[in-house]
Amino acid sequence: MTVRQIVMYPNGILEETCEPVSVFDKKLVKLLNDMYDTMIEFDGVGLAAPQIGIKQRIAIVDIDDHHGTIEMINPEILETDGEQTDPEGCLSFPGLYGEVTRPDYVKIKALNRKGKFYTFEAEGFLARAILHEIDHLDGILFTSKVSRYMKEEELEGLSEE
Ligand SMILES: [Zn+2]
Repeated sequence: MTVRQIVMYPNGILEETCEPVSVFDKKLVKLLNDMYDTMIEFDGVGLAAPQIGIKQRIAIVDIDDHHGTIEMINPEILETDGEQTDPEGCLSFPGLYGEVTRPDYVKIKALNRKGKFYTFEAEGFLARAILHEIDHLDGILFTSKVSRYMKEEELEGLSEE
């Protein structure tokens, strides 16, 4: 188990566009496993590679539901629908929370750790977490979408992404 260090805002890498992954090797598997350990260690529901200093289009999401860990490599959004407004946080902004409006439904396609394409549909909080992480791969931070910042007392048991 290797917990990596989380890159905090305002580190420039968080605002850069990440590069697509083209090599699916043991190094990638190790990276995905380390990302998982890091996300769990810091109590997150998602983590993108730039958040551990790696400028590649890799992100994971795990909201602790029956879907388990969703590993997204070179993800693309195929479809979105609806709207939801809810509090959001980010492991790169400890203690900062704000309301963000996002689609309520998303359909993505991505590659798994073996380089195989899959599609995945999500709604509600899972869709939010997926969209938050994909934004990271384009250097888009949740703070650019916050409509209202919230005090920590207003939120109980909210997870960071
Ligand atoms: Zn984040």
